[in-house]
Parts: sequence; C-alpha cells; structure tokens
Amino acid sequence: MRSFLKSFIFLFVCVALLIFMVFYINRDEAFNGVESDSFIDITHIENTLAQFISSDKPEVEIEEIIYAEGLHPIIEEKTEQLIEHAAAVGIDLMITDGFRSIEEQNELFRQGRSAGGKIVTNAMGGQSLHNFGLAVDYALLNQSGQPIWDLTYDGNNNGEPDWFEVAELAKDLGFEWGGDWTDFVDFPHLQMTFGYTIEEIQQALLEAEGEENEELLHLQ
Ligand SMILES: [Zn+2]
Repeated sequence: MRSFLKSFIFLFVCVALLIFMVFYINRDEAFNGVESDSFIDITHIENTLAQFISSDKPEVEIEEIIYAEGLHPIIEEKTEQLIEHAAAVGIDLMITDGFRSIEEQNELFRQGRSAGGKIVTNAMGGQSLHNFGLAVDYALLNQSGQPIWDLTYDGNNNGEPDWFEVAELAKDLGFEWGGDWTDFVDFPHLQMTFGYTIEEIQQALLEAEGEENEELLHLQ
C-alpha cells in the first residue's frame, strides 16, 4: 500500500510538472510572441554548449598540427584576408615567412650564434609555431614594392603607422601579434594557436613519434 502511495505521488508530481511546463511555454509564446526564453530552449542550450566548446579548443585537432608540411589552411585563409583588408586601407604588405621545417628552424637559430650574421630567432627547431604552420611574418611594401621593416612608415598617409594598423587588422582576424609580447618582442610575427600551447604541440609530437625526437626538439 505504501509503495502504491509513493508511485501515486511520483506520478502526480510528474503530471504537475508537465502541466506547468506546457503552461510556461504557452504563456511565453502567448505573451512574448517572438523568441521564447523558456528554460527548455534547445537552441539556446545548443549555442551555449557550442560556444563553450569552441572558445576553448576549436575544431582543429592537434594531429593536424604536429605533422604540418605547410601553413595550416585556416592560417593561409586568414593571411589572404589580412592582405585584402590591408589593401583596402591602402597598405601593401608581403608575407616574408610562413612554414619552416624543423631543420630550417635549426639553421636559422645557428645564424648569429655558430654561424655568421645577426641573431634572428630565439627558437630552435620545434620551438617555433612556424614549424607547425601556425605563424607568418609580415613586412610592409614601400612605393617601389620593396619590403621594409619600418615601424613608423605611414604609406597611406592617415597619421597612423602602417605597421600597427596591420597588427590591428590581424588581431581582428584572430591572430596573436608578436609585437604585444613583453619578453621577446617580435614585431613581424603573427600566429594562431587554436588554443594549444607550443608545449602541448611538442608533447603531442613526442607522444606520436617517440622519445627519440626529444633531441630534435631540444626538449632535454
Ligand atoms: Zn614569426
């Protein structure tokens, strides 16, 4: 008898809840007309979930990154958009560096150290996002089409240095700009990491390829 009573109460609560929900939704539709803000708004829940997931690690899998043999397609697309957006405000720019293999990065690192020339990078092979196709470097083009690295150049005569205008346009497209860094300022550098750190990328590469790559990546 007691279990019957329990079942009855349970059923009663369920029916009451159902009636309340139907009433709540109808009331919403009747009074609001347009958009329902009821608590079972599936679209809202879906959007919130999608936003929650995408704001952290977007659709890019780390496996796509560790075996990069060129710029990531998204970086490539965003870089083209950047060139277009800059052209629209009268700034010509060129991409001087994109993807670099780990060997090329090591060679660059030797420059100004064991090799001649001046130091151009603090990153050894596997330590730069260029090695994983996630970074590009830009330079401005002057009126004769020559690349220049002049931070004060104002080719479009709007009173703002073109270099910083490009940086702002790049940031609007989702790039991180090396000019904002404090430890090693890298004015030409733009990168997009899709939520991964360089350490996470290196770790994923090591896990996929085995520890013998440790030396190659200078992670000792
Ligand atoms: Zn760079």
